[in-house]
Amino acid sequence: MFSLEGKTALVTGASGGIGSSIARALASQGARLALSGSNADKLRAFRDELNSEFGHDHVEITCDLSNTTQVEELIPATIDTLGGMDILVNNAGITRDNLAMRMKDEEWDEVIRINLEASFRLMRAAARTMMKARGGRIVSITSVVGATGNPGQMNYTAAKAGLTGMSKSLAQELASRNITVNCVAPGFIRTAMTEKLDDKQKDAINSRIPMGRMGEGDEIGTAVAFLASDEAAYVTGQTLHVNGGMAMLS
Ligand code: NAP
Repeated sequence: MFSLEGKTALVTGASGGIGSSIARALASQGARLALSGSNADKLRAFRDELNSEFGHDHVEITCDLSNTTQVEELIPATIDTLGGMDILVNNAGITRDNLAMRMKDEEWDEVIRINLEASFRLMRAAARTMMKARGGRIVSITSVVGATGNPGQMNYTAAKAGLTGMSKSLAQELASRNITVNCVAPGFIRTAMTEKLDDKQKDAINSRIPMGRMGEGDEIGTAVAFLASDEAAYVTGQTLHVNGGMAMLS
């Protein structure tokens, strides 16, 4: 794959289903990582796992993305700890599903705050340090439903579509400094959550996917590693859809 030797990266939601696969993909290509999440125990356990698998002395930085003060501290803490930050991966995300007419203000606010506003704050802070370094990579994890819509997910789809638009704007602002800003949009990915579905539910999902199966976390990790690499220098403002053909979007 693509070498990330000598690069430093912050991955949010690093202990989650997809985040841990992204962290593994970046670490396996040689990057040194700051792993972030709100649950310190989970993060520490994952850091130990990653360090014993790949070396490189990866670190964990706890941050609750619903807390603005903590979000504003995350990039400075990453730079202090790693000595720089070449790559930002905005992966953390939550769902609070409800049909529009029943959706509570708190369900809307929480999803927008964690999935969209925190990403904005991290991208803004990352842009400052990457501008000085005259290079960098920002990759955000969106979702197929940000492009197609999905009943019961007005909050989530608004956040994911917002992340796509925001990334295109920033990509235009930073292109001349060799900083690329892209998104990876997963379809259904097999995680602990999807493993809890029964066979009938899984079959119903798989029947909507031309490849007839859900994706693996590694398949998202690989896409992120590509966009984070030097080889992807001329790719910016794009969304790489990884969904087994479920929605064929350009
Ligand atoms: P997951 O397993 O639930 O992981 C979510 C991650 O986000 C966890 O590491 C969690 O860390 C972190 N997180 C949640 N709330 C947080 C908060 N307040 N502050 C800091 N971190 C927080 O979810 P996933 O399936 O891997 O999803 C990862 C990304 O992929 C999300 O953006 C999601 O929208 C997107 N996605 C997933 C799928 C799918 O099929 N799974 C499909 C399309 C898109 P803590 O537990 O430490 O808080």
